[in-house]
Amino acid sequence: MANAGKGVDVHEPANPPSRAVRPALAAPRRLSPVQEAYEAWARHQVDCGVCRNVDAGPCQAMGLLRRRWDALAGAAVRRVADESA
Ligand SMILES: [Zn+2]
Repeated sequence: MANAGKGVDVHEPANPPSRAVRPALAAPRRLSPVQEAYEAWARHQVDCGVCRNVDAGPCQAMGLLRRRWDALAGAAVRRVADESA
């Protein structure tokens, strides 16, 4: 006798995967001030429509973020140089 017309049982997994998705770019720890300044500068280039437009050129905020990053990076280099002198 053939199968009595029962459908295929679909078994749900006993432990469905968690819905909590870890962000792909999650920082494992806090960034240094220089890294945060660089991140803000780099992210601005991606997010800003004016800066992405090669004909429009960088906007004023881009210049400020770049100078902030340069100043923090320069201060960090000088601090290391002073400590090693
Ligand atoms: Zn911009």
